[in-house]
Amino acid sequence: MRNAFSQLLSELEGISTSDIPLIEWHHKLCFLAVVMDEKPAFAIGFDEPVPPRLVHFLDQQSPLLGLKVFSTKRPPREYLKMADVPPAIALAIVDKWDRSNRTNHSVTWVVKREDCKEAVERAVKGEARLGDALGYPACCAEAYNADRALHLQMYYQALCKSEGSNSTSVILKALEKNESVKAELPSAQRVIRTMSRFSFLPFIACQSCLDSPESPCSKRNETYRRVLATLAPGAARRVLIMARAMSNYGGGTK
Ligand SMILES: [Zn+2]
Repeated sequence: MRNAFSQLLSELEGISTSDIPLIEWHHKLCFLAVVMDEKPAFAIGFDEPVPPRLVHFLDQQSPLLGLKVFSTKRPPREYLKMADVPPAIALAIVDKWDRSNRTNHSVTWVVKREDCKEAVERAVKGEARLGDALGYPACCAEAYNADRALHLQMYYQALCKSEGSNSTSVILKALEKNESVKAELPSAQRVIRTMSRFSFLPFIACQSCLDSPESPCSKRNETYRRVLATLAPGAARRVLIMARAMSNYGGGTK
């Protein structure tokens, strides 16, 4: 069993899921947390293409590990309704983001329990919160949606400014022409602080989680750290080193 597991880990380690090594390890760690029943669902395909090698690996391993693997369309983006952007333009902007991330509107999920699969299916239908299906704290999921809504709004405003118009048809045409504008993600500072404080978290911590000594994030970070340190101690050390290096680099000299 131990040998079988170490073989699984070395196979998993050889599969590339992202251009950024830390994100790649977060993907793997989320998968392992589902295997250990410490996280309700693992998902890939939101912000990156789903690698065929990973799908093959999951199809092979799921019967042995008692996992359910399935694909769905992308769950509705909860932040679309929150942004002050005309709906047709909001959709065209996120479509453009999807194209630049090479995602194909399909998400691959791994769950261990039937109730977790049901939670995912409800989220895909827009009947439940995606953050709950993924096991993320509600405070951080809300902060994520607020950040994304603000980003969408900033992107829209930058586009209106560069086109010198806020007419829907002019803006949609500019998006078709693939004209890009600069609009930084408003959560950049929290991304850096999350990496340094909660290196194992696969999501961005909200301000309240970053500011308090005890938070849903510190609990989850510790759980994910334990999962990885137990199964692959070398990988756990690497995640810490990568996250600290990235947060130092991103945080400048402050
Ligand atoms: Zn939070």
